[in-house]
Amino acid sequence: MRGPIVSYGTDRVTRFPFFKIFITVQSNLSTMASQIPSLVELVLEASSLYKQTFPGETPQIAACAPGRVNLIGEHTDYNQGYVLPMALPLVTVVVGSPSPGDDAIIVTATGHADEPRRVNFSLPNKGSTLSPGVPYWANYVKGVIHHYRAQPLPGFKAVVVSSVPLGGGLSSSASLEVAFYTFLQQLRPDDGDKILKAVACQQAEHTHAGVPCGIMDQFVSVLGKEGHALLIDCRSLETIPVPLADPDLVILITNSNVKHSLASSEYAVRRRQCEKAASILGKDSLRDATLKDLEGFRDELDDVIYRRARHVIEENHRTVKAAEFLKRGAYHEFGQLMLESHNSLRDLYEVSCKDLDCLVSAAMEVNGVFGSRMTGGGFGGCTVTLLKAHVIDRTIQHIQERYHGTPTFFVTTPSEGARDLQLS
Ligand code: ADP
Ligand code: MG
Repeated sequence: MRGPIVSYGTDRVTRFPFFKIFITVQSNLSTMASQIPSLVELVLEASSLYKQTFPGETPQIAACAPGRVNLIGEHTDYNQGYVLPMALPLVTVVVGSPSPGDDAIIVTATGHADEPRRVNFSLPNKGSTLSPGVPYWANYVKGVIHHYRAQPLPGFKAVVVSSVPLGGGLSSSASLEVAFYTFLQQLRPDDGDKILKAVACQQAEHTHAGVPCGIMDQFVSVLGKEGHALLIDCRSLETIPVPLADPDLVILITNSNVKHSLASSEYAVRRRQCEKAASILGKDSLRDATLKDLEGFRDELDDVIYRRARHVIEENHRTVKAAEFLKRGAYHEFGQLMLESHNSLRDLYEVSCKDLDCLVSAAMEVNGVFGSRMTGGGFGGCTVTLLKAHVIDRTIQHIQERYHGTPTFFVTTPSEGARDLQLS
């Protein structure tokens, strides 16, 4: 028996049978890493939950958006600096249909979101606004609706599934926002401007989830390019795709599966410290500051502010240099910068923790590993490691032996940004 067609992008169409099959988008390089569910599997899961939740109905539209990993350039985005992330094969999928009236009904499949997992609210129209509330997870979606750039929206029903781990530093939040925005674009098209789309999703996180994040996560989730990392200038919002598709190279993500409660409060503290440093240096942001400027104000800065600013200024340089190295295939040099970045985040910016330090030093002990560092905001979450493909399982095994916790591993490739999925 033949099943429905799911197509993604314009060029790939897969016909799959009704019985469950496992197509993995990750390379089969490792027997020890977690399996990453394919897009087809996620769409099937979402469609089946939709049919179960709304008996007699089938979803008509679908969209997806990826999580991301940042290869280098940490805590630079909100300082108007440079970042070098890539989109992941871990994605959030939204399926749904328009429905009569002004209500939105949204269900998330994940058991890791706060309860209830089904929400029902009136869409904002005629001047009314959509305020944040409970459950907390729905605020990300409400924020996207609030900032959506073509109003009013028709009523709709939607189901969300995701393979991005929640709260793990791989930006499940941006992938949820961007997937949802992409879904809304099919319900009522906006002008299709991708940069304004990313900015609207960032605003959603600020105003409705209460997270004052930079632009990186939403940007790469919208604009990610298969086989490429993305050098983003967070001031001009210009991007340069950097090829990263060497079959002998692997990008390993290790989730420490720890998240220290300090993460969000310390993030806000770091932002304030950077603003203070920029203002003492007489700059709009630390992006404009040089090491020479910093040394010139050494006596007017307390030690903590000095070290925060030094991390940001040096990390910006490292990121631009790293993109050059990657372009040339200079992986040793790239890896060295990853390690310097980690050490700076540990010693100057003080956002690492013992778990992340242990994962990085364990990875660096394996022959064939080029570089490793914490990635994301810090205080837990993930590390990213660049290594030769043939040492992947040896590396995973070594990390497991050295790390006291229960890490999970993803072998990843740079993937495409948000896109519509055609269901039929
Ligand atoms: P990260 O973005 O690194 O995964 P965050 O703390 O920024 O971590 O965002 C995680 C939060 O985003 C979750 O606690 C939840 O509220 C929301 N979220 C993300 N993905 C989903 C999803 N698929 N369903 C419901 N909520 C989600
Ligand atoms: Mg997030």
